[in-house]
Amino acid sequence: MNYAFTALAASGMIDLEAVLFVGVCVMVFFFGICIGSFLNVCILRLPMGESLTKQNSHCMTCGTEIKRYDLIPLFSWLILGGKCRACKAPISPRYSIVEGLTGVIFVLTFVNCDFVNNGFLYPALVCLFIAGVIVVGFQDFDTQHMTTSVLFYIGIVAFATRVLSIVRPTRFRACDVTVLDGIIGFFCVSVPLLIIGFVITPLFYKLFISEEHKSLKNLKKRLKTEKLSDKERAKLEKAAEEKLAVIKENGPVYGFGMGDVLFMAASGLMLGWKACVSATFIAIILGATAAIVIKIKNSKTEGETDNAFAFGPFLAIGVVAALFFGADIFDWYVGLITVPEMM
Ligand SMILES: [Zn+2]
Repeated sequence: MNYAFTALAASGMIDLEAVLFVGVCVMVFFFGICIGSFLNVCILRLPMGESLTKQNSHCMTCGTEIKRYDLIPLFSWLILGGKCRACKAPISPRYSIVEGLTGVIFVLTFVNCDFVNNGFLYPALVCLFIAGVIVVGFQDFDTQHMTTSVLFYIGIVAFATRVLSIVRPTRFRACDVTVLDGIIGFFCVSVPLLIIGFVITPLFYKLFISEEHKSLKNLKKRLKTEKLSDKERAKLEKAAEEKLAVIKENGPVYGFGMGDVLFMAASGLMLGWKACVSATFIAIILGATAAIVIKIKNSKTEGETDNAFAFGPFLAIGVVAALFFGADIFDWYVGLITVPEMM
């Protein structure tokens, strides 16, 4: 068998390199959907503080423990037609989407990293990084919160990749980032996010938006400038105290979560500053589009609606896209806005 294969390859009927290339891609895909299955568990259980290993998977509707042969990532869902084997209740396609997405992105990463020439180490590190990004992206979508342990994990993978880029430089774009690029990337988006989210937004809210702040300011002004009887004064002072209590109870309004800030710091270390800036712009464009769509949708439905949504998923999409095209997008854009030098 082996001999026959070698003979065929030697005769030129099989391109040995192409076979190996496809073989690695198929293996990476299967590995990816298995990791994706584990990521589903992380997305679901980490925010609730549940153990990742103890509990077995069970049907969300009837509670039946899912048999081992029905736990093959992606394929079980397809074979069962998206229904529980015991109670026929539909199983959310979300799990299979996460598995398939992870598999596809892992393959694209290996191909994009040119594993044939660069080896498996860099693409593997990038895949480990992307796995963490997928988890926090979906967590933020579900709960508007990112698990600190996963953010820490993303930071460690990024740090390891940067250390490796000193020891073993590579031609792969996403890893063709110097340590200095990474350090600038660490701060270049996270610090502005920190300032916008935790200084400018609360201040803007206090000065221009909050009704409580406005009326408190009004009351204080009246107490200072107007001539009031003792009775009126006491009444106004009491009202001011009540307003202050409401303001303290509601707490300040922040523009971003601390998770967004830490996530962009770790991602900047991985991407380098150019791609990190591209990632942020991709996220802002996608986020703004989504905000407009949500606003239009909500304006059609009556009653109280919630216009707030998580920004994390958009940052996650931006970061993954920037791993592939980030530096190129940045250079293309800079090329657009700068006048080409005369030769
Ligand atoms: Zn069931």
